[in-house]
Amino acid sequence: MPTGTTPNGTTEGTSGSAAQWRAGDSFLSMWRGLAPVGRHPESGGYRRYAWSAADLDCRAWFRTQAEARGLTYERDRNGNQWAWLGDPLAGDAVVTGSHLDSVPDGGAFDGPLGVVSSFAALDELHSRGAVFTRPLAITNFGDEEGARFGLACVGSRLAAGQLTVADAHRLRDADGTTLPAAMESAGYDPGAIGPDPERLARIGAFVELHVEQGRALDLTGDPVGLASAIWPHGRWRFDFRGEANHAGTTRLADRRDPMLTYAETVLAARREAELTGALATFGKIAVEPNGVNAIPSLVRGWLDSRAADQATLDAVVTGIERAAQEYAERAGIGLDVVRESFTPVVEFEHALRDELAKILEGTGDTGRPVPVLGTGAGHDAGILSASVPTAMLFVRNPTGISHSPAEHAAEDDCTAGVRALADVLEGLACS
Ligand SMILES: [Zn+2]
Repeated sequence: MPTGTTPNGTTEGTSGSAAQWRAGDSFLSMWRGLAPVGRHPESGGYRRYAWSAADLDCRAWFRTQAEARGLTYERDRNGNQWAWLGDPLAGDAVVTGSHLDSVPDGGAFDGPLGVVSSFAALDELHSRGAVFTRPLAITNFGDEEGARFGLACVGSRLAAGQLTVADAHRLRDADGTTLPAAMESAGYDPGAIGPDPERLARIGAFVELHVEQGRALDLTGDPVGLASAIWPHGRWRFDFRGEANHAGTTRLADRRDPMLTYAETVLAARREAELTGALATFGKIAVEPNGVNAIPSLVRGWLDSRAADQATLDAVVTGIERAAQEYAERAGIGLDVVRESFTPVVEFEHALRDELAKILEGTGDTGRPVPVLGTGAGHDAGILSASVPTAMLFVRNPTGISHSPAEHAAEDDCTAGVRALADVLEGLACS
């Protein structure tokens, strides 16, 4: 829940504008309705895994919101939900939305903020008396976090043809339940899944509002920002091979200890990241034989690295590899580096981003142009950007914490996000 001002306090305390009151009021009542769904009583975090009972409750909530507004509700062949104002088949539609599923013990905002803000923005537009010239849809993309089946953005990947049906059918959760079995038990037809190019071709613009998963807006002092790009990112596995031996009897001079080389490499990663302005993290490690009283024979560390552009990412990873190689040679340690995964940069369409920047110019409370920022996190918008003109709005996250029960956005900032989204949708879809 956003905390801070009450709905009345927001109305009377920060603005006399009727528009702000309506945006905040509609947002808060929906937010309170959705808040208990899938929240774990002990951790306070959300466990809304794809096709679970909590996910189905979220989906029922979405359908109720759609029908309460007289929108045409449908679910597509990949289990994504749609709520349409206007003709879904007319084409050149403006689509907004996000996801309602969560990571294990996730926060309330990652995903739901975008869906709830979409309905609230539509309410805001109705209260402004907006006249729509393009069809508008609100979406809930299924299985965005990949918490259950280990692959993120399954709903949008399937629609965009970036996940094959055969690979989707092979996805299994920790209990061995396959994705098709989970879909079927939730009342969906897994035989229907697959690319949906006709549906995507009817979208003229997709805009996803999302809580920021960093502190860029907190540092600039802006409640809302626009996305420039999703940073290129990847994972590299470093295998350091030495010689297992007795921790109590082997002289220091006689050791070939891969843990030391690994430790030097972790420090080098931090140094290279600082030098290049990238991010580099060793967050996972496996040790053999993994005994308290044994010098390791193998240390395997996984590097996650992200940067604003490909050249910087190349520079930081090359720098870390070179340092690791030098340390390894000096210490007589074997080293293999394997790139396990890689996602190139996703640049959001410049024309749409510029259009949004123009719409938002001067509408915020700061009087400054809306800041444009990159992000290191993946989103459905990133997947869809290969098929559809796509843009993202971010709402300030004062601590930057995400994927945690501590994830937070202030109520006034959520309201500012709703107003910005309403401004954008009005600019794109109304006369
Ligand atoms: Zn998200």
